[in-house]
Amino acid sequence: MLKRQGVLAIAGLIAIFSVLHVVFAPDTHDPRATGTTLLGGIAFLLMTCSIVLSTRAPVLEDWFGGLDRMYQTHRVIGVLAALFALVHFFGVPKELPAGIDPAQNPLVPSAPLGMLGLIFLVIGLFIALNRKIRYSLWRPTHKIMALVYILIVGHFFTAPQVFVVQFSPSGFLLLAAAGLGIVSLVYSIFGMNKRTAVPYTIEAVNTLERATEVVLKPTGPHLDFKPGQFAFVEIAGKGWSEPHPFTISSAPSDGHLKFTMKVLGDWTRKVREELQPGGHVNVRGPYGRFDATGAGDKQIWLAGGIGLTPFLSKIRAMQPGDKRQIHLVYAAREAQDAIFLDELKERAAQLGNVTLVPLFSDEGNFARVEMMKQKLPNPLKSYDYFMCGPKPMIEGLMKDLKAEGVPRRKIHTEAFEFR
Ligand SMILES: Cc1cc2nc3c(=O)[nH]c(=O)nc-3n(C[C@H](O)[C@H](O)[C@H](O)COP(=O)(O)OP(=O)(O)OC[C@H]3O[C@@H](n4cnc5c(N)ncnc54)[C@H](O)[C@@H]3O)c2cc1C
Repeated sequence: MLKRQGVLAIAGLIAIFSVLHVVFAPDTHDPRATGTTLLGGIAFLLMTCSIVLSTRAPVLEDWFGGLDRMYQTHRVIGVLAALFALVHFFGVPKELPAGIDPAQNPLVPSAPLGMLGLIFLVIGLFIALNRKIRYSLWRPTHKIMALVYILIVGHFFTAPQVFVVQFSPSGFLLLAAAGLGIVSLVYSIFGMNKRTAVPYTIEAVNTLERATEVVLKPTGPHLDFKPGQFAFVEIAGKGWSEPHPFTISSAPSDGHLKFTMKVLGDWTRKVREELQPGGHVNVRGPYGRFDATGAGDKQIWLAGGIGLTPFLSKIRAMQPGDKRQIHLVYAAREAQDAIFLDELKERAAQLGNVTLVPLFSDEGNFARVEMMKQKLPNPLKSYDYFMCGPKPMIEGLMKDLKAEGVPRRKIHTEAFEFR
């Protein structure tokens, strides 16, 4: 779930900037100049926040509710920044004040830099939001946003008499943001935002129904993680390209690290077809805040297909005597697709506090609120919900649960995508 602290921090920053900008507007500014530079400043602050989020700092994970949420916020504020920048561009006065020699145009080089920044921003956003572009191609092209930011910083620093010369408080805020943004940009572009690599060797590659389980053995210290967290998997060797994020499906106390990977595209197919025991893997993490331990005693865990992995880790880590009453709803297309179902049944019987509810859509059983109403012993409002699965399923359930009066703060979701 997206936590409020992060969003409130961004909103607070924008509010402070807006107040400072309006209250301490230079005498030379008319309302139009104040308004349009305000919009430009907000666009710049949003871009800065978006870049700061790409540092993947653990404290930001706490504020936003995990890296997946940070990337979702990164995307939303990137789009908002572009909208503000566009309105700024169309609104800002373009004509030279009377009596100014065009050869001495004070808008050069600020205006052309801003214009270029805006053009690249629109191109970059088009690429960023285009889901048809393959991830491996999308990732390097997304770096165009670094160029956009540098151009916009140039635009701002060379803006005539707006901030630096007038020593306006909002200008100082933007200067500080630019400093933070550039440091964050360098930090992320040069890969310093990656967590330390923990080396493993591949012990087994197990073929499951439409998925592959990769079992790793540590070559040194084991990765320290909580059930439900995920990590980036980097396979050593030619042709394995970029790191891929996967939820850890083993328990922290297990001496091994296990990932259960649904076969989806080239990389996951290669894992299934070519990965061999004995190879080397670096694991970077842990990330994510999909943690059910601090929630209420009545919990619904809802897994759709491969969305089972965080719950698999949780249930493998759980000890008998756990006070929570948990209903694990496991929705799959058919019984054959429900990997680890036998293990889940066994664990549920051992633990005593977990009720397993398998649902197979080919039998006409879907994960729906009506079904929950029938099967759950208590009113829907009394549970905390943890959900992971296909986006349409999660969005539909979230909408229906809210319509049933379940507060948003009781619904926790994990997204298996960053963009
Ligand atoms: C937080 C998180 C946890 C995840 N946990 C699991 C899990 O436990 N089990 C599981 O099967 N899948 C999980 N995934 C999804 C998994 O990362 C993708 O299915 C996998 O990377 C697809 O790679 P591909 O090249 O085979 O498929 P493609 O068809 O190339 O990609 C399918 C989609 O996966 C995403 N993707 C592809 N490559 C990357 C990458 N390098 N980095 C980030 N996203 C990428 C993109 O959104 C893309 O549209 C998780 C994803 C996230 C973000």
